[in-house]
Parts: sequence; C-alpha cells; structure tokens
Amino acid sequence: MNKEKIWLSSPHMGGREQTYIQVAFDTNWIAPLGPNVLGMESDLERYLGEDVFVGALSSGTAAIHLGLILLDVKAGDEVICQSMTFSASANPILYQGGTPVFIDSEPDTWNMCPAALEEAILDRIAKGKKPKAIIAVHLYGMPFKVDEIVAIAEKYQIPLLEDSAEALGSSYKGRKCGTFGAVGVLSFNGNKIITTSGGGAIVVPSKALKDRAVFFATQSRDLAPHYQHSEIGYNYRMSNICAGIGRGQMEVLDAHVALRRKAHAFYSDYFAAIEGVTVLKEPTADWFSNHWLTAIVMDEAKVGKSREDLRLAFEAENIESRPLWKPMHLQPVFEKYPYYGNEVSSRLFEQGLCLPSGSNLTDNDYLRLEKVLDHFFKSQKL
Ligand SMILES: *Cc1c(COP(=O)(O)O)cnc(C)c1O
Repeated sequence: MNKEKIWLSSPHMGGREQTYIQVAFDTNWIAPLGPNVLGMESDLERYLGEDVFVGALSSGTAAIHLGLILLDVKAGDEVICQSMTFSASANPILYQGGTPVFIDSEPDTWNMCPAALEEAILDRIAKGKKPKAIIAVHLYGMPFKVDEIVAIAEKYQIPLLEDSAEALGSSYKGRKCGTFGAVGVLSFNGNKIITTSGGGAIVVPSKALKDRAVFFATQSRDLAPHYQHSEIGYNYRMSNICAGIGRGQMEVLDAHVALRRKAHAFYSDYFAAIEGVTVLKEPTADWFSNHWLTAIVMDEAKVGKSREDLRLAFEAENIESRPLWKPMHLQPVFEKYPYYGNEVSSRLFEQGLCLPSGSNLTDNDYLRLEKVLDHFFKSQKL
C-alpha cells in the first residue's frame, strides 16, 4: 500500500523533547529519578492547580495500582469500577487480590452511571460488604458526571480513584480532571494526549501521600544506610530520560488539546448532516473535553451499514479506526464478577467507533478522511 497510514492517535513531538534528554545525557543522569522527573512533576502540579501533588511513575497502570494501595485495598476487598474502559483500570484490583464490581455507563458522557453506582453500593452493603474504593474514568477525555459521582462517594464515604489517563487537559466547571478524586491517575503512554514513550503519574492532595506513593514506587526502602524494607515495594518510578520527553511535551500540551478539539469539530460538522450517526460531545458548558479520541455511534437501521463496514472502509485506505472499549463485564477474564446496569455500555460497544483524532493530522489527512466518509455516507447526506 503506498498511502501513508493515518493512525487513531500517534506520538506527536513538540520539538524541545531532545533538549531535555540531552541535558540528562550531558550530566549522565540516565536513571530513575533526577532533575527531569522533578521538573515533570512540578510542571504537572502547576498545570493541574488545586494545590495537588504529583508523583511521576513508569505507567498509568502503576499509578492505579499504587492508588489502590494508598486507599488500603487488600485481598478480599471489593472495588467498584466503570465497566466501559481499558482493562488497565480494572487489572490492579486483581493485583491486590480484590474483587471488581462493574458499573454500566450513562448515555450522556458514556461514563459511570450515577444511578447504577448507588444501586451497586446499596446492594453490596446489603450483602455485607461495603466497597473499598470507586474507580471512575473520563473516557476518551470526556469528564464523567463529576458532581453526581463525587456526591455519591461522599454520601457513602467511599474514596474515589479518578482514572484520568485519557483526560489530561480536560476540565469540569473549570477544574482540571485528575484533581477530583482522593487519588488521580494520568498516563503518558504512546497513544495518549502527551507521551513520555511510556509513563504515568499519581495525583494526590497532600505531600505526605505523594511521599508514600514514591516510597512504594522505589522498592519501599526504609531510612537506613543499608537496604532495609518493612513493606513490599515496587519498581514504578519514571526514568529521567522519559521525563525529559515529558517536559518537552508539557510545553505543547494545550496546543495539542486545541488540535484534538479541531479534529472533533471536523467530525461534528461532518456528521451534523448525516442521519443515524451521533458524535460523543460535551453535554453542557460545564464540560471541557480534550477530545483525546473522537467517537461516534452508528444506528445501523438508519444508515443501512454497520460501524464494522465503516471500519473496513477506512482500513482499505490505510486509515486506522477502532471499536469503542469492550466493557469489562463482557470480557472473558472479568465476566464472572458482579455488574450493575442496563447494558448501555454493551450497546455503545456494538455501535461505536473511534476515529483518527491525533494532534498531528495534516490537511491532506483530513482530505483523505473526508473522501472515505463522503463515499461511505453518500446516500445518507441530508
Ligand atoms: C491508557 C490507560 C490506562 C493505563 O495507562 P498506561 O500508562 O498505559 O499503563 C489506564 N486507564 C485508561 C482509561 C487508559 O486509557
């Protein structure tokens, strides 16, 4: 195939990343920890505001795992988790020997349904076990119903772990995503809004909690000249090289958010004239999404073709698109665990598709995307 691949979401360097890495090389700081790691943390703290503290880690998954440890999740504990998400939201519950309890989505933001959440909490308490934590996700960068979810977490005194892996740069009522939970989580994996090639961060409201997370992330070393350990540790710290990439990426974060939002505007305009296709969008002005990925649902009955037909039409032109996250309660590895809801997420999964949304899409890429869409939807144009 001679046409260059258009990716769903690929790394997009800002230009200054190598400068930070060069300093690391010049000072021989090729290790975990180091000035770039501390710089990345303070960049993020400044960006997020709200007096949060940030610990830079090796991945978003590591941040969720350490978050559950900070929230004292132990073997046998139940942890509530949004069903429609990437498996990394749920896997760390199992690392801790806990039991996930999955919650369906609501149709406005596709995130955790507040009614199903409350139903689950009451039912788990009635069954004799109060859940230890709630993991809610800002899917595709779209903030979940923050006021409702936070109110329920407070009402039942269950800490909220906010999986903001896809939502750096998003906000709700002017406050940045990642700062609403007892613990917030960010990811800098290669496909995320900014990348450190691989990495993540934990966001917490106090220095003591940050120090605790960093302690676990660096093998739980007690204060002693020799290696001494009173607790189980992990090797989860970010490296100074990766953090160098991150520092360069922080300089272009807002510009990249604007470009992702441009992709979303392109698709929103396009599909406004197509019957049977709905674009995930901000429900009210309280929401500000980074639109990490633009996602649509297609009503097969109205369009006469399925989302899989559209995916194949893109693929034939060397363009990547992907079905929405398959809900966790439908995954072979998780289907035996409790689930509460009305299959909103299953329907989204059946009908939904994520479209190329990178901040590095070129004008020519947009023309190629439009051509595929025009051809596919020619009989649907209003
Ligand atoms: C990417 C992602 C993670 C995991 O982050 P990694 O850095 O890849 O470990 C967790 N949750 C969600 C919703 C994600 O999209």
